[in-house]
Amino acid sequence: MTFEERLKKYAKEIGIDLIGITTAKPFYEAYNRLEKMKRLGYLSPWTEMDFKKRCFPKLLMKDAASLIAVGISYLVKEDDGEEDDKTLFYGKLARFAQFEDYHKILRSKMEELVSFIKKKYPEVKAKIFVDTGPLIDREVAYRAGLGFFGKNSALINPEYGSFLALGEILLNIPLKPDKPMKNGCGDCILCLKACPQQAIKAPGEIQTNECLSHYTQEKGLFNEKIRRKLGLRLWGCDTCQEVCPYNQKARPGSGIFKVHKLGKKPDLEQILKLSNREYRKLVGETAMAWRGKRILQRNALINLGNLKDPHAISILKEALKDPRPIIRGAAAWAIGEIGGKEAKTILARALQKEKDEQVREELRKGLEKIL
Ligand code: SF4
Repeated sequence: MTFEERLKKYAKEIGIDLIGITTAKPFYEAYNRLEKMKRLGYLSPWTEMDFKKRCFPKLLMKDAASLIAVGISYLVKEDDGEEDDKTLFYGKLARFAQFEDYHKILRSKMEELVSFIKKKYPEVKAKIFVDTGPLIDREVAYRAGLGFFGKNSALINPEYGSFLALGEILLNIPLKPDKPMKNGCGDCILCLKACPQQAIKAPGEIQTNECLSHYTQEKGLFNEKIRRKLGLRLWGCDTCQEVCPYNQKARPGSGIFKVHKLGKKPDLEQILKLSNREYRKLVGETAMAWRGKRILQRNALINLGNLKDPHAISILKEALKDPRPIIRGAAAWAIGEIGGKEAKTILARALQKEKDEQVREELRKGLEKIL
């Protein structure tokens, strides 16, 4: 058995679903693709704009020689969702946001791999990147043979689908590279048709700043059309991946990622009542944490508006007293969406006291909807 074969066998033993090897050569195609997306204005504002750093591994390690790509599936069996629908008002999380700090677990698995490598190469230099590193995980994974790029630009493995947490290890020793996989989409265009924003402009060409996932992380109060399209999406959007036939038949992951305490469908009232301390404790270790409490609570209010349940009015009335204008504005919109006599009275009273011009505008528009 070669060292590469032993390494891959060991990876499977410790719970890594997918592993492959590629060289540390530049990712020229990815570089050109990023440049094109930038020219077209398709990138989201929080994209790392130093494309060289993302596509030229030697800028991260001078003597880099190879890259090991790893993937762990975060697809869990649907019947694992025992807490689902317990609450009257719930939002939906994209799958990647349903777990406790998966970066930490993935990193620890990759550290185990590095220890394994060090037994044979004690002097090896190794750098671990998990999800948020400068290198483009999907590009590394593709070239290392973990999967192919779907038309929705997700990395798809024929066995595990595309709900994959990816990471890579940069090494200064050469290892035998694997071959990239052939594209498996064929004539299928299900994801292009399913995207609620028609953000998949062409196969592999995504207008990321129009994706609903982007809007769940965007600041401010975007237009009403988008608010309605968000529906119950509290964080992220999986639509283009959920419809993919490869995910329909995908093998679930080993379950090493644990669903966090908020559950897969968090209670929106609980989200709105979180103190800063509770937010740090409950949301702090999830993939949603980086954007802050205000954005998550704004999304919760939009979800409540889209639920259109008059029983939510009392929760929304409380939110109208919040010191943060974006929260009052989102609450005003949600109350207007629910409508009815009580909603009308609440909005009219709030308008009498409100000083913030943007919130006043939301209150006025809410009232107009009800009239
Ligand atoms: Fe490819 Fe169809 Fe999956 Fe889109 S839905 S990524 S076109 S197989």
